[in-house]
This record gives sequence, structure tokens and C-alpha cells, in this order.
Amino acid sequence: MAYEQELAIAQEAVMIAAKLCEAVRRDMVPEAMEKSDMSPVTVADYGAQAIICRALAAAFPNDPVVGEEDSADLQKPEMAAQLQQVTDFVKAQIAEATSGQITEWIDHGNGEVARRFWTLDPIDGTKGFLRGDQYAIALALIEDGDLKVGVLGCPALAFGDGEPGLLFSAIRGQGTTMQALAGGEAQSVKVVQPGDTERLRFVESVEASHGDQDRQNAVAQAAGITQPSARMDSQAKYGALAAGEAALYLRLPSPKYPNYREKIWDHAAGAIVVEEAGGRVTDMHGKPLDFFSAAKMMDNRGVVVSNGPIHDAVLSAL
Ligand code: AMP
Ligand code: MG
Repeated sequence: MAYEQELAIAQEAVMIAAKLCEAVRRDMVPEAMEKSDMSPVTVADYGAQAIICRALAAAFPNDPVVGEEDSADLQKPEMAAQLQQVTDFVKAQIAEATSGQITEWIDHGNGEVARRFWTLDPIDGTKGFLRGDQYAIALALIEDGDLKVGVLGCPALAFGDGEPGLLFSAIRGQGTTMQALAGGEAQSVKVVQPGDTERLRFVESVEASHGDQDRQNAVAQAAGITQPSARMDSQAKYGALAAGEAALYLRLPSPKYPNYREKIWDHAAGAIVVEEAGGRVTDMHGKPLDFFSAAKMMDNRGVVVSNGPIHDAVLSAL
């Protein structure tokens, strides 16, 4: 089937990157953090981008990767100790990796938007990563103006009494699956169905400055949601929607940063994962998100993600 190889490569790379991120979170204790100039999130960001770009460059050498990080800072002479830290964590996953290769792999992620390209956020939700809360590793393939493949690794996400660590995967037209990040059976998932009032919940960012929580609450109420929001960092929110654990994700422009524009890597993987689970993704004016013009979505404002049936009520409330 179409895009099967792309999906398999992306899944494997995200799973390995997730192991690195969890190792950094476990091993870089606060003491170590104070001593070094580099925060654990930076080590994990660089390491995860290196691992994923290496896999993409090997399998699809002609595909540009538009990633969040580059290695310019890491290559400064005064950063040698930090580069060594990144190298040690990458070597724990890829034994033969060298520092020189790692910076090359990271910079493979400095590509530009093209007819076909990948976009990568090696750690989405850096604040959640540091707090010990949710974060995500987000990778998507965009081709001919559409999202084609999305893989979203959520190392701290769990539903019910399940083990934390979930991987969401989608191919356009083929639905969305969820499986344990550690490996295991993939099950297909669907958004909240009409009539399921118990799961008619909404999610929003933990960080108040990444949205407009007052307005988000008012709009959710106007659309018939009576329960208070669940606050969650990163694209894990898209995972909650795809798994049918919440019906709405609102991200309205922050009054503090009125000129902020959303980045493609913060939404691409999540968007296809929710759409293929039956949901809908637009900006606050009902426009499709533009993942194919530039790294910043200049012509979109805010993001509305829903199970579908409540989407129009949300847009009219806005
Ligand atoms: P979340 O955890 O959902 O709040 O998303 C984290 C992402 O928010 C980061 O990857 C940033 O790129 C993004 N971000 C940073 N500042 C803003 C802002 N003012 N408005 C919206 N998103 C932002
Ligand atoms: Mg991000």
C-alpha cells in the first residue's frame, strides 16, 4: 500500500528517539542541569533530531526535512562538553555514531519546504518535558499540498490504567492507529462519537501564554461542553482527540503575543492523526491549515481541532 515504507521508517525512528528522550529525562538529574550550560531538553532535542534525520536521510535521501533545531550553537568550541553529552545519549541508541556525524544528521533537518518534504519537532512541549509532564516527538510527510503520513510519539501519555508511552500513526486515507511506544499490537482509533457525552471534554495548553484560556473556555461552553478543560502540553492533545478521550482542542491566539504564527511542526503530525481518526482540523476562521507554503503558517490564526460533529458550532461561537 502507498506510503507503507515511509510509515515504517518514521515509526522506527520516532520509537528510538523516544527512548533517547526518556533516557535524558531519567539521567540528567537537576544537579547535572545546574552544572552544565545545556538543559536536558536541549540535549534531548538535538539527540532526537539527529536520530530521526539519520533514518530519513538513509531511506529517502532526496526528501528535505524541515526540523526545529540546527547544530550551529552545538558546534561552537565552548560547547564541546555539551556536544559530548548529546553524543553519549545518541551512542546509547546507535553505537557507532560519532560527534561529526551527529551534527551532520541534525543539520539534515535544515531543509526547506518543497513538493515533498518531512517536518519534525524532535521535542514538542519542551516545558512539559522539563516539568515531567506531557511532550511529543512529531514527524509528518507532506506531499503535493497534503499531509500524507504522520507519526506522533507521546512517551508520557496513558489512558485509563494503561502504561504510559503511546505511538499514533496515520496514512492519508488509511485511518489512524495507536500502539505502545515500546512496541506492540496497533489498534485502530476513532474520535468521540456523537452522543458520547461523558467524553465531550476539551483540551488546551498548560502554558497560558500559548493560547487564550478565557476565550477558549467561553467558546467550549457555547459549543455545549460543560466540563472544565484538561490541560496538557504538546501534540499529546491531538493524541487525546484521536483516541476519543476528548472532543475538542482549542488554541486561540494569545492576547500577549498577537502576532505569533503557528509552526508547521507543531501541528502537522497531530493534524493527520486526528483527521484519519475521523476528526476535523482548521484555523479559528474555518480555513484549512497551510502546511505547504512555509515553516510558519502566515495565513492561519489559531487552531481548532474537533471530533467533527461539534466543529461548526465551535466556529460559529468564535
Ligand atoms: P503546547 O504545549 O501545546 O502549548 O505547545 C508547545 C508549542 O507552543 C511549542 O512548540 C512552541 O512552538 C509553541 N508556542 C510558543 N509560543 C507560542 C505562542 N505565543 N502561541 C502559540 N504557541 C506557542
Ligand atoms: Mg513544538
